[in-house]
Amino acid sequence: MHEMGIAISIVKIVEESIPESMRDRNVEAVVVEIGRLSTVVPESLRFCFSVTARDSVCKGAELDIIEIPLTLSCRSCSHGWDADEPAFFCPSCDGIDIQINTGRELAVRTIRVADEA
Ligand SMILES: [Zn+2]
Repeated sequence: MHEMGIAISIVKIVEESIPESMRDRNVEAVVVEIGRLSTVVPESLRFCFSVTARDSVCKGAELDIIEIPLTLSCRSCSHGWDADEPAFFCPSCDGIDIQINTGRELAVRTIRVADEA
């Protein structure tokens, strides 16, 4: 399962990001950005995260998923648009110099740790 691998990576990133002195505190929430092109199913990722987090610093942490839409733009005529999947032609000028602006994201954006141990 695609989401399981991602959940494992998220937990690993969180573990590596927390300073030694804060390791005994609870991670309350992890905010991740998931672009449309990553084809992640949020519900599935939440489930995989809760399973993976059990034996880690992320135990009991909430996973906040920010879904980033796919947005494209044309380098020839500067037309910009939202899409469900990557496009190879500009709908405005038929140009082929298409740039993906957002939608590829797959990143841990914020880690919230409890104030006290
Ligand atoms: Zn164009």
